[in-house]
Amino acid sequence: MIKSMFLPVFVMIALPLTAQQLYWPRDLRQAYQNQTRSNDGWPGKKYWQNTGRYDITVTALPPDRTIRGTEQITYINNSPDTLFGLVFNFIQNIHKPGVTRLGDASPDYLTDGVHVDRYTDNGTEEQWGHEDGGTLQFKRLSEPLLPHDSVRLSFEWHYEISLKSGREGMIDSTTYYLAYFYPRVAVYDDVAGWDDIEHNDALEFYNDFNNYTLQVKVPRNYLVWATGNLLNAPEVLQPKYLQRLQASGKTGQLVHIADSADLAGRQVTAQQDVNTWKFAYDDISDVALGLSDHYVWDASSVVVDASTGRRASVQAAYNDTAMDYHHMTEYEQSALTFLSGQWPGVPYPFPKMTVFQGYAGMEYPMMANDETYQNFEFSRFVAEHEISHTYFPFYMGIDETRYGFMDEGWATTFELLYNRTVMSRDSADDFYRQFRVNNWIEDNSAEEDLPIITPGDDIGGRGLGNNEYGKPSLAYLSVKDLLGDDLFRKCLHGFMERWHGKHPLPWDFFYSFNSISGKNLDWFWNAWFFSHDYIDLAVSNVQNRGGDWEVHLDNIGGFPVPVDLLVTYTDGSTVTVHRTPAIWEQDPARASIALGSKKSVRSVTLVHGIYVDADAANDTFEVK
Ligand SMILES: [Zn+2]
Repeated sequence: MIKSMFLPVFVMIALPLTAQQLYWPRDLRQAYQNQTRSNDGWPGKKYWQNTGRYDITVTALPPDRTIRGTEQITYINNSPDTLFGLVFNFIQNIHKPGVTRLGDASPDYLTDGVHVDRYTDNGTEEQWGHEDGGTLQFKRLSEPLLPHDSVRLSFEWHYEISLKSGREGMIDSTTYYLAYFYPRVAVYDDVAGWDDIEHNDALEFYNDFNNYTLQVKVPRNYLVWATGNLLNAPEVLQPKYLQRLQASGKTGQLVHIADSADLAGRQVTAQQDVNTWKFAYDDISDVALGLSDHYVWDASSVVVDASTGRRASVQAAYNDTAMDYHHMTEYEQSALTFLSGQWPGVPYPFPKMTVFQGYAGMEYPMMANDETYQNFEFSRFVAEHEISHTYFPFYMGIDETRYGFMDEGWATTFELLYNRTVMSRDSADDFYRQFRVNNWIEDNSAEEDLPIITPGDDIGGRGLGNNEYGKPSLAYLSVKDLLGDDLFRKCLHGFMERWHGKHPLPWDFFYSFNSISGKNLDWFWNAWFFSHDYIDLAVSNVQNRGGDWEVHLDNIGGFPVPVDLLVTYTDGSTVTVHRTPAIWEQDPARASIALGSKKSVRSVTLVHGIYVDADAANDTFEVK
């Protein structure tokens, strides 16, 4: 190959040094030099990521709260670096008194954390030696792990499931939800090296894509729902229930696999003392599971890929008294149909989805743990939100800890677009404003205006949620308006195609949109993601110039939002005028809109819709 191939990428294709160029963190700049990333938005020529194989067996024998696990990990080092030790996530230790948490912990939340009973490194037993450890633990390897080599580790561990259930824990004395329940190797990536941010219970996660087998040992008459394909249904279910499960995969009708009467009869599962439920899935970022001896089990399925006719199973596990859950498989069908066919418009990538009644409103691959609500519309909304996380972060490998806007911002965007299809547009927009926008824009404190790009682990207060949900969602909707649906879809799909199963950073997203759209959108990304801007537009003047009417706008807040004007003429007629955020490209602070009408204008008012404005006092101009 020619020598210039070995020049650093950023030297060859660096953009002109203008005020509009995006800020590059120094570690990202290094990654561009190393050619693991590229500022055209593609993974770099030398992009790599590490991976592992996890063979996990977990035992839960309610009402005993002790959870016992064993696992074998094969961890594969695809990096060019020699690793002398590994960093491990022990997320369950968030329950230990004294670990760093962003919020308070009640007595029912506290446990004494994870106890490692046995640890081996390439077959040799070693002391783990971290009984005082928190959610991150470093362990030196017996031999350095060379590039492109692997290490075999095993753990035996136990912990007590928390009485108070959040993202995981005890739902009732015979219903458990297990998540983050196994020791895993933290992410070692090409930009930040080890992900050494302690879990603080508020922020979310950052995971490698691994291959999993999961065996769940539970007493007879307990059902288990988990991430992955159930491999041994005939061994754990009685024939009648096995047939119902199989039938549910071929129909859009609701199948009650096990109702209350079935469960009361205690003949749903195989009648060994302990049944082992086996699940497996490859190239996935996590596994979670729920188990119960009295949750009813509904299932159905839905076509998620119109071109092949592929169906995905939709399942619900719940207490029969939860009335909204009786509709849950319908909500799942509706969500999967929308997500697969409309936005993002990528066929649901997994074979199944299960919504399990708990206390979280939380996503896991192929699983959601959602509360029950009296308001069925709200249940449907929460289900769709959590299911939409299938794409971001589970299909896309997002670092949710630092850049939660890369997953929550999209889930918030898809939720609005979904709600507009299942309720009136006004109701959907109203809900979005109330739930996602108002508490940000109505709060004029400095924390709210921190740039969205600010790493989430360095924001602890009121700015955090709004930087992850409402603000970035408005940015994504603005770029959708700017590009138009067809080009926006092409960019979104292109970005997803380039980066699914990998670890995209925000810059990979920005530069993918730039290169796929053929437009340098850095002015837009800069304003929305890297500035302290907010939304406040003003109509500064309405003028008649030689018979043509012009509206002059000031962008006081700075965010380049779409503009909608309500123009009232002196004859009492009205017209609405829409402009995309493109009007802010040349001058981010001022823009003029020619109305193209000779009729006399009486007044012009900004109509904000979902782009709620911080100051309504400057929104109307009356022509004197
Ligand atoms: Zn979410």
